[in-house]
Amino acid sequence: MNQWGLTCSRCSARLPFRYQNMKCDCGGTLLVDYDLELVAKTLTKASLHERYPSMWRYQELLPVHDPANIISLGEGWTPLLRMPKWESKLSLRRLWVKREEQNPTGSFKSRGFSVAVSLLREAGATKAAVPSNGNAAGALAAYAGRAGIEAFVFIPMDCPSLIVDECPLYGAKTILVDGFIHDAAAIIESGRGEQGWVNVGTLKEPGRVEGKKTMGFELAEQLGWTFPDVIIYPTGGGSGIIGMWKAYLELKELGLIDCEMPKFVCVQEEGCQPIVDGVHQSSQPTRAGEDDSLLLAASSTIPNPTGMRVPNPPDLPLLLAIVEQSGGTALAVSKVQIAEAMRCLGTEGISSSPEGAATWAAMLQLCTDGWLKPSDSVVLFNTSHAMKYAKLGTSAAIPIIRTYDDFVMYRSL
Ligand SMILES: *Cc1c(COP(=O)(O)O)cnc(C)c1O
Repeated sequence: MNQWGLTCSRCSARLPFRYQNMKCDCGGTLLVDYDLELVAKTLTKASLHERYPSMWRYQELLPVHDPANIISLGEGWTPLLRMPKWESKLSLRRLWVKREEQNPTGSFKSRGFSVAVSLLREAGATKAAVPSNGNAAGALAAYAGRAGIEAFVFIPMDCPSLIVDECPLYGAKTILVDGFIHDAAAIIESGRGEQGWVNVGTLKEPGRVEGKKTMGFELAEQLGWTFPDVIIYPTGGGSGIIGMWKAYLELKELGLIDCEMPKFVCVQEEGCQPIVDGVHQSSQPTRAGEDDSLLLAASSTIPNPTGMRVPNPPDLPLLLAIVEQSGGTALAVSKVQIAEAMRCLGTEGISSSPEGAATWAAMLQLCTDGWLKPSDSVVLFNTSHAMKYAKLGTSAAIPIIRTYDDFVMYRSL
């Protein structure tokens, strides 16, 4: 039987495992801590050859006791696509895109919610709620639907309508919020006692970080048991950065890898960039407790409603520590850079969300700045599909014809 507890990422206190409340008394975040000696007995490179291509191939490092509780829709083991043309164009040793948009709910949020909802089942929960800019809502809706758990999703009203509309299709109670993601979170906290919701928001429970951790395991396994020099990741609440950092530490301790820690680069959109401000210690960092909506309204560029738009990440100090420890950095890209990057990835056959495109824009920027070196191997995360962000019926540039003559006429215009 596998065993695990919790360890505080700030003060190193050790606690027994629990399904809710990941905050230590010191204010740090509690992370799942495994008996790695026990894990090493069954999780070996050879044993992985025989396992199914899903993120659940790393089951010993996911905190579910009874396999019957695992809620899976086929998440993980996404392709790592090499970009040889761009390697020579940009002078990079290696460049890959991790195609997370191919997950069952069209974004990498599937990973976190596969584990989180499995844990809800294991804990016997019947109702769950999440504040979300869209993809977390869709993922909770889908996995909870399959688990027979009632899902309540609270989404800022300016989020992409296709993502919102998907939630009721999965059977979730779907509510739009006139505000930002932290306003949605406040509503859930107010109603938690009365409604009996388990809050599965970022860092509220152990499953989402553990699920996203599998991105790091997959990178290492797909690259022949090593990490790239640099990981560029579109960061909002930051559970993916925490997860992949944890993946590196666990694989290292298990002796499955023997490389340097990858440099973690957090990308955000201009106008909502608390991690970027924190890393560069700008004169006006986003401080907890300030009115975030005022702060956003006052900024010169209003950011798109994407997964990166999280004004107040739940554990900013941990994210800053990871970026610093890894030798990484953080940068903000503009709407225009994101739009150009979406087109560029599109012509490579990759449907990228604004978040995924932001990593491409950041990579170009870091090449220009000389931060990325010709000796570097780089992985970008395309965290979701362009299609989820599309608006219906707005493609004015696409002609409509009835006959071939119409086509000839159109081409001659
Ligand atoms: C949630 C989300 C992000 C941000 O991920 P975190 O790990 O929460 O920082 C990035 N891209 C997309 C598409 C998302 O849905």
